[in-house]
Amino acid sequence: MINEKMRELGAKRSVIRELFEYGKKRKAEIGEENVYDFSLGNPSVPAPKEVNEAIVKLVTEEKSVLLHGYTSAQGDAGVRAAIADYINKTHGEEVTADCLYMTVGAAGALTSSLTALVSPGEEVIVPAPYFPEYKVFIERCGGIIREVPCDSELQLDISAIEAAVNEKTAAIIINSPNNPTGAVFSEGNIKALCDMLRGCEERLGRPIYIISDEPYRELVYDGVKVPYLTKYYDNTIVCYSFSKSLSIPGERIGYILVCPRCKEFTSVYQAVCGAGRALGFVCAPSLLQKLLPYCLGATSDISVYDRNRRLLLDRLSEYGFEMIKPEGAFYLFIKSPSGDAGEFCERAKKYEILIVPSDDFGCGGYARLAYCVTTEQIERALPAFERLAKSYKE
Ligand code: PLP
Repeated sequence: MINEKMRELGAKRSVIRELFEYGKKRKAEIGEENVYDFSLGNPSVPAPKEVNEAIVKLVTEEKSVLLHGYTSAQGDAGVRAAIADYINKTHGEEVTADCLYMTVGAAGALTSSLTALVSPGEEVIVPAPYFPEYKVFIERCGGIIREVPCDSELQLDISAIEAAVNEKTAAIIINSPNNPTGAVFSEGNIKALCDMLRGCEERLGRPIYIISDEPYRELVYDGVKVPYLTKYYDNTIVCYSFSKSLSIPGERIGYILVCPRCKEFTSVYQAVCGAGRALGFVCAPSLLQKLLPYCLGATSDISVYDRNRRLLLDRLSEYGFEMIKPEGAFYLFIKSPSGDAGEFCERAKKYEILIVPSDDFGCGGYARLAYCVTTEQIERALPAFERLAKSYKE
């Protein structure tokens, strides 16, 4: 029999994907340059030269037939060692290859981590607004999503999170820099979260895991620092992806890092491996794994996103829109002038502007604009934004 829950998920695309598909149709109708598509976090900045150079080098110089062969289920040992080395140098950590599990992007890392850590009926705390797929991933393993709104500055609301912790809490997902708000949780905020969670762990007599979802770690502006979670909390699992830092989201490569000081480290790592096996996620794409040692520390040209961010902040606030200044990622969270997210995005569509309503991110009243597009697209879209703003004043 067909699994009805899965059928429903497949039949109904996410709001983001729906809008992206609408954009493709609309571009075919009126021309690509006349549609201002800010729907999807698909980087327009090319991958850094290290990526293509490494691919060419590997396919032309690598003699081993195993270049395209299966690696170990958890990933190539040499690749994992190189990543461990990089993490240790960058974050002052002491991780080894055996703390890492290579995955198909952050999505693969999240589904495997959640499957490893969450049993049916257990809860996962998710600060809102949040990446909508979290709900799908949590519910797939029989877990229950427990949304906790962030505070008015879009930082973690520590007392609200504490109030949400109970005997069923398995984990909390932290995403900083954040999709959809662009917020970066400050060091003070992270320290307060970790202190509070340690208190809860003591009270409950068992671990509460932090799953740190980090596809945007390198995408920060104005010198903002993103705390590395393992340095603050032992029971941390990092879900990292190269999708955005290297502009290779379609290539699907990332990893899970289980903090070596995690309580019952061996069992947690085994559960991650078991989850990968149960999900059929063993051996992430081989060529993509092998290019990583050549690209660690490289990023695509992030200055383009910063330029886009500044341009949008300046001009949209001039037109009268309200938004919180993003410190990272490539999303701008704009307040709906009517207070209604759906109305705002539908109205924007009339001006050929495609932005995503915030309701699916677990919070009403905003729209998410993905500014990982070309600066020219933003410049072309500005008059349409001005007309959209005026329409609320008429
Ligand atoms: N987590 C967040 C917050 C994201 O924004 C995304 C993608 O946009 C993902 C996870 C999935 O990333 P990946 O493409 O690496 O699977």
